Amino acid sequence: MADHATQHADPRDTEVESATELEEHDAETEDEELDPEAVARRAAALSRIRKFGDPVLRTRARPVDRFDRTLLDEVSRMGVLMNDAIGVGLAATQVGVLHRLLVYRVHPQGAVVALVNPEIEWAGKEQETLEEGCLSLPGVHVDVERPVHVRVRALTETGAPTMIEASGLEARVIQHEVDHLDGILVLDRISRGQRKEAMKALREAQQSG
Ligand code: ZN
Repeated sequence: MADHATQHADPRDTEVESATELEEHDAETEDEELDPEAVARRAAALSRIRKFGDPVLRTRARPVDRFDRTLLDEVSRMGVLMNDAIGVGLAATQVGVLHRLLVYRVHPQGAVVALVNPEIEWAGKEQETLEEGCLSLPGVHVDVERPVHVRVRALTETGAPTMIEASGLEARVIQHEVDHLDGILVLDRISRGQRKEAMKALREAQQSG
């Protein structure tokens, strides 16, 4: 995962590995590699993220129309939560806020990017299937097919128009988070058979933790 490298320098964290995993690592693997403080921070962050079954995750978020201190606070809280949870992206709906707002950071040393009222205005024809996890779906890792290239129009947290041309992991994270803002989960983007297995993994994860 992309921001994994901020926690430690593990030679296994190759670029390829980063690009195949989105948002979440298997908690057990993660815990073995993190120091106890980071494990505790991660657990605290995850406990504040809405999980499958919470109706808010199935609700379409509303456009943001006020660019004030409250919004800036929301963005910074989400950034901290995402980093503590060791995720690469987080949508406002995942913290129970029905704002069309998402944050992501795909480069370990990069700044957290916030997109307000994002619209995917163009997606390339080329598709790619890669494994995705979701902070709201513990234990679930599913192969999701998505366009490799997208162009996104949005506003920054201060209300300035912005346009992002994203490819690869960045494009995938943005699409995953925009889905959240529409009440869509990765479970909706896979086959019925895959969904059955994912639900089993989810139940097991919920029982064990
Ligand atoms: Zn997610």
